[in-house]
Amino acid sequence: MTKWVYTFGNGKAEGGASDRDLLGGKGANLAEMASLGLPVPPGMTIVADACSWFYQNGHTLPESLAGQVLEALAAIEADTGRKFAGSERPLLLSVRSGARVSMPGMMDTVLNLGLNDETVQALGHDAGDARFAWDSYRRFIQMYADVVMGLDHEFFEDILEEEKGRLGLEHDTDITAVEWQSIVTRYKTLIEDELGEPFPQDPVEQLWGAVAAVFKSWMNPRAVTYRHLHDIPEAWGTAVNIQSMVFGNLGNASATGVAFTRNPSTGEKMLYGEFLVNAQGEDVVAGIRTPQSITEAGRIASGMDKPSLEKLMPEAFAELNAIATRLEEHYCDMQDLEFTIERGKLWMLQTRSGKRTAKAGMKIAVDMVDEGVIDLDEAIMRVEPSSLDQLLHPTVDPRANAPVIGSGLPASPGAATGEIVFSAEEAVAAQNEGRKVILVRVETSPEDIHGMHVAEGILTTRGGMTSHAAVVARGMGIPCVTGAGTMRVDMRNEVLLGLGVVLKRGDVITIDGSSGHVMKGAVPTLQPELSGDFGRIMGWADSVRRMTVRTNADTPTDAHSARSFGAEGIGLCRTEHMFFEGDRIHAMREMILAETVEGRQASLDKLLPMQRSDFTELFTIMHGMPVTIRLLDPPLHEFLPKNDEEVAEVAAAMGMDAITMRERIDALHEFNPMLGHRGCRLAISHPEIVEMQARAIFEAAVAAAKETGAPVVPEIMVPLVGLRAELDYVKERIDTIARAVMTESGTELSYLVGTMIELPRAALRAHEIAEAAEFFSYGTNDLTQTTFGISRDDAAAFLNTYQRKGVIDHDPFISIDLDGVGELMKLASERGRKTRPDMKLGICGEHGGDPVSIHFCETIGLDYVSCSPFRVPIARLAAAQAAIRVKRGEG
Ligand code: PEP
Ligand code: MG
Repeated sequence: MTKWVYTFGNGKAEGGASDRDLLGGKGANLAEMASLGLPVPPGMTIVADACSWFYQNGHTLPESLAGQVLEALAAIEADTGRKFAGSERPLLLSVRSGARVSMPGMMDTVLNLGLNDETVQALGHDAGDARFAWDSYRRFIQMYADVVMGLDHEFFEDILEEEKGRLGLEHDTDITAVEWQSIVTRYKTLIEDELGEPFPQDPVEQLWGAVAAVFKSWMNPRAVTYRHLHDIPEAWGTAVNIQSMVFGNLGNASATGVAFTRNPSTGEKMLYGEFLVNAQGEDVVAGIRTPQSITEAGRIASGMDKPSLEKLMPEAFAELNAIATRLEEHYCDMQDLEFTIERGKLWMLQTRSGKRTAKAGMKIAVDMVDEGVIDLDEAIMRVEPSSLDQLLHPTVDPRANAPVIGSGLPASPGAATGEIVFSAEEAVAAQNEGRKVILVRVETSPEDIHGMHVAEGILTTRGGMTSHAAVVARGMGIPCVTGAGTMRVDMRNEVLLGLGVVLKRGDVITIDGSSGHVMKGAVPTLQPELSGDFGRIMGWADSVRRMTVRTNADTPTDAHSARSFGAEGIGLCRTEHMFFEGDRIHAMREMILAETVEGRQASLDKLLPMQRSDFTELFTIMHGMPVTIRLLDPPLHEFLPKNDEEVAEVAAAMGMDAITMRERIDALHEFNPMLGHRGCRLAISHPEIVEMQARAIFEAAVAAAKETGAPVVPEIMVPLVGLRAELDYVKERIDTIARAVMTESGTELSYLVGTMIELPRAALRAHEIAEAAEFFSYGTNDLTQTTFGISRDDAAAFLNTYQRKGVIDHDPFISIDLDGVGELMKLASERGRKTRPDMKLGICGEHGGDPVSIHFCETIGLDYVSCSPFRVPIARLAAAQAAIRVKRGEG
């Protein structure tokens, strides 16, 4: 019989940390903590496979599940000495989701389950606190009605507000047991009136309702969006954790909180966290009340006056501190803990590897190597390559001296500037219009996720470092300031009030997620300096990786910044990009539009000196490192004059009238420019273009070698080759020019001629093409376009829909389609190397900076990856991780 249910508690558990796929992250770690003998409220986990079963069987549950759950429930009753639905010492349950990876706040939770008109009395009696019991009952009704029965919680809020008004009370805490009791009666009537069915009084019925609701929440829109953003497969499903309730809201000796074993923003080795006295767990994350610091040091650092847990409840604090140390040692990683203190007794509700900023991630990895906890390989594996984006974010220039109009907590690092918007919808609309925005909210919730994703930065006026906004922004690498208590959002008038200013929607502000400051207007920023822990990790990464990392650079600026990020050569110089600026585009347009060979030659004569000086500069900057220059590959439409003014200008320069010029432009019009007259096709139609470029490259190589003293071996790359004969034709022209330049300059030149593999035919005929090509570079942008037959310019319109509908799980233009495009690359590499065993292989499509694609490149034995300058550090780290994974036999 399938085992659907695993129990834990009282020093033992049926599963453990390695059962994450089965029990979900939360369930696996609860089981592990229980086995370690830590104080975990007893409970059970229904495995994630039951969620898949639920969806495959028309939202029903497997028959054998019921018996297993009831059996586990009996064990919880025995452990706690309480009885589910009991008229004395009633057992209450929490029912929570828990997927394989954490999806914070995305799915549903039901707390205080098991309360009804009878057990509420028993709970009040047992706790000696009727008010607490009725408050718990009304919370349960509200949560259950919302999550399970689908009745919006606002209906209940309205009743509560009305009652408070009637009673003349301001705070919920002022409401007495008797008053809560009559509010509960109104809640139950509301449910009957709105839904035509009563609130279920049978705790077993409540339990099954909650389990089904958690499974259903796996498919709610925000969970679906979150999975898409984080590449989490739908097939995983969520487990359900059913656990006996413990109460952080049983008076002033009770509390609930979250803690990190090291500071998640800076990485500093020190217990760090927040708690609320007399509160339930969700209150901390929701950011409804401003929490207090756990440690005295943290309290002093943040300038809070409310006491720390260390001072307020020293015994519980000492136990928490010891457990934190134990868990970090056990998992060899920084942990994120949730706990509740019920009348002085500490209970652990969760542990998991804590999310951290890139900076903290680096520091923790480096410190743990120094502490002897992990080895170098493990330290390299610990840093998420894409998180380096955060370190590369600009910071506010302190010399700007911009007046601070408000400040809050430095929740996610980096500076961001944008126009104020007050809702996620406005943020999305603004982004569609190409405007940059800062999402300003009192606090955020998972409903805001789409707006947070497109914002440059996020500012909230409430909530701590562990509030929703802070956690989500850190995960997304978006600068964020939370709890800016000196500012106020006035939603009625739609303004943000800061120190001496009133700002409206559309006004520009700058936030600094590293200092927590908010400034008016666009404040100048500084580029980050990469050193210290970053330098050590990158140094270790460089020592273990096999592939080299080059950059795609078309300008001296690109080349300089790529070198500062550690690029080891240029893998792609798109020469057509050298003509986008200034007067150069005129010469380029004249060349394209010329009607005769002489006319074209005249414009090429203008282009030659520009190209020669460009290449000389690139070779000089790269100082002997390999530089791959690709021959002209312009999709013509990007260069043709478009408006009347541009047409008139080019016509005048070429001595043509505007009408003839328009006719010429029309003649060059292509239906599918991306599949048209570009790449080597252009070189074959107009060999004089290749000849000019080859001359510029060789003359520049001679000049740069003289200047730097380092030999230059240019790698000339022919684009869009499908036939070996195409390459032969172009190579012949290049070789002829090389001989001419050697004779003219009296210098011996070394150079390589290779090709891009960016058409399926080229991949299939790689063995033949390798007879002429001295290297291959995979142009995976075009290879993806042509393998799928999806235009790279038009894909966005429908690939999003494909992802939403689950037709594809990621965009193949971002991360290589391993099954199709990957297969072609593998085959081409094998065939190419059969002909030319020492052939150099690389990749220069956008995928060259994508960690998953880089891992694939390692497995098929490429020599290098090439990516945009800012992605070079990411690629260095990803290449090291790929090498380690292969070494460990993990793929
Ligand atoms: C490619 O096709 O992957 C490539 C690098 O060339 P481009 O993007 O310039 O077509
Ligand atoms: Mg291409």
